[in-house]
Amino acid sequence: MEKTLPGLLFDQAYLKTIEDRLYARAVEESAMGRKIVGLYCAFTPKEIVAAAGAIPVSLCAGTEDSFPAAEAHLPVNLCPLIKSSYGHAVADTCPYFHMADFLLADATCDGKKKMFELLSRIKPLQMLLLPQSADHEESLESWEKELYRIMAFLEERTGNPITRENLEKQIALYNRLRTTIERVYLLNSGTIPKVFGSELDVITSMGGFECDLETRILEMESAMEQIEQRAVSTAFLDQMKKRPKILLTGCPTTNKKVLHLIEKKGAVVVAMETCGGLKSNSRRVSQTDEPLHALAEKYLNTACACMSPNTARLTLIEDLINGYGVDGVIELTWSACHTYNVEAFQVQEAVMDRCDKPYLQLLTDYSQNDIGQLETRIEAFLEMLC
Ligand code: SF4
Ligand code: SF4
Repeated sequence: MEKTLPGLLFDQAYLKTIEDRLYARAVEESAMGRKIVGLYCAFTPKEIVAAAGAIPVSLCAGTEDSFPAAEAHLPVNLCPLIKSSYGHAVADTCPYFHMADFLLADATCDGKKKMFELLSRIKPLQMLLLPQSADHEESLESWEKELYRIMAFLEERTGNPITRENLEKQIALYNRLRTTIERVYLLNSGTIPKVFGSELDVITSMGGFECDLETRILEMESAMEQIEQRAVSTAFLDQMKKRPKILLTGCPTTNKKVLHLIEKKGAVVVAMETCGGLKSNSRRVSQTDEPLHALAEKYLNTACACMSPNTARLTLIEDLINGYGVDGVIELTWSACHTYNVEAFQVQEAVMDRCDKPYLQLLTDYSQNDIGQLETRIEAFLEMLC
């Protein structure tokens, strides 16, 4: 589908080479005794995992082929992300899950929390008791305490002491990674965007395993150079100029159908306010505070809809609309995701009333059944922006 985008440099084939390389490296490291730690949410500080000498791997899945296995235990009417992740785990069809030695899971939305209880029957799972609000001092204290507990757990599980020096090293490395990811996005902050959203998605992906961040940073640097070279082409810029600039927000873009449809229909997704995008990568961890306090502060402020209130998300959306010269906002909501679906009302208010921009919410799942209907709605929305 995305191959129809003119001038596209980075596609799923590009991502596959990165995934294959990182997978092979993780297999090697695992065989040598390094622990692989499965993660599910943007609240788990990966720096602590890496400081324990382990490799973090993201396990949220994006395909519907695992639904039958999931629905043997879970309700049919459940968020597709949860069903897909659980289905692949229970059917043992996810090589990443298969390789994980144990799991760290944040207590975020209700569906995920309850699914984690079942998951703990398959693999050792440690739940991180996440406070439900970032706005209270007690929340930060409690989250920091929880991170100390998780640090001790990781030391015991890996057999590696987590030194302050290691933590600081990982904080600096992950900060560089986030800065690099944000720089890739910022290529779209000028009048004419330079990168398709589908390219942002693959260029900044960690390919599952975070075992070679230095190389990933270099790969992103190289991708930025290629993008700058492409941007000297008048033909490329002319077609980008005609595309309405969209901010994609909402549930994680684990399945790419909406992202690809928006661009196939003639727009460009200039920024993504999602878990793998700027929701996680627009802030850094302080390198002057105590490491665990700094990590607690950064991660607690992740603007996920499971937080109440979640004003940080509305502020971030407003900043992105202004910073990227956005023409319209599309919100992706996975079916049966109550947290994001309910919060959509406040997002719509912020976009339309505070920023005076058009807003469209798309409620969908991982299937291809509603492609025609989605195309019609996206087309009508984009026409309104021209
Ligand atoms: S949106 Fe929230 S609950 Fe969903 S994967 Fe991201 S951090 Fe987790
Ligand atoms: S998309 Fe919604 S329901 Fe699904 S895991 Fe994320 S917050 Fe939970």
